[in-house]
Amino acid sequence: MRNYHTHTFRCNHAEGDVSDYAEAAVAKGFTLVGISDHTPLPDNRWLFMRMGVSALPAYVRAIEEAQVQYPELVILKSAECEWAKEYNDFFAEVLLGEYGFDYLILGCHFFLYQGGWLSSHVDITSPKRLVAYTDFLVESMQSGLFSFVAHPDLFGLSYLDWDENTAAASKDILRAAEELKLPLEMNGYGLVDRRVRSKDGERTAYPWLPFWQLARDYDVQVVVNSDAHAPERIDQGLQEGVEMAKNLGLQLANLDHLARR
Ligand SMILES: [Zn+2]
Ligand SMILES: [Zn+2]
Repeated sequence: MRNYHTHTFRCNHAEGDVSDYAEAAVAKGFTLVGISDHTPLPDNRWLFMRMGVSALPAYVRAIEEAQVQYPELVILKSAECEWAKEYNDFFAEVLLGEYGFDYLILGCHFFLYQGGWLSSHVDITSPKRLVAYTDFLVESMQSGLFSFVAHPDLFGLSYLDWDENTAAASKDILRAAEELKLPLEMNGYGLVDRRVRSKDGERTAYPWLPFWQLARDYDVQVVVNSDAHAPERIDQGLQEGVEMAKNLGLQLANLDHLARR
């Protein structure tokens, strides 16, 4: 088993350190775990859900120490990143460059709308905002910095009913993923823990089934991750996600290359 998406205590809304995840991974028979806490940002924006820049060296050290301590496990160094044009150099030169991160995940929790930032969790409440989220996500994908896209269908948390707007947004995201050959993540945390109530009743917020049904029409690859925010949840939703992808006939991505950078 493998999981490329995990968070430590440093982001202020998760538990455990890298060694705790390594311990849990070994106990549950994982061969690979990617540590991908919410990235610090050079301007220390959105600190309520991420480490500050000053915490970065200790984060990297914790990963490198665990790599030595757990030679039986492949531990990768990563971060889940909010993209913005002004962060390109930080991601490329500091994270991938100076600190030798194995890969970066795109996780779009905020997007630009009419000159200000909105939350992808709660603010996608109109077709216009959905278009803004989609455009920003696609622009982020085009940066070329990321190895896959976390929960691309996150809009399902606040845009409650499937309609022609969600279909159009999904097709734009899927088309970009196909063109850029960028795998899309089916998120285990969402699958297990994120439910919303819409006019047709309760459903999983994300992965949102109709998004992944549309994915069958595109040449896209899927990666299933737990997005664990606690060590004992390192495997949450993994089996269910793989089953869902297989039932839909979607192709699972091979990310072996990330371990060989
Ligand atoms: Zn998180
Ligand atoms: Zn995450």
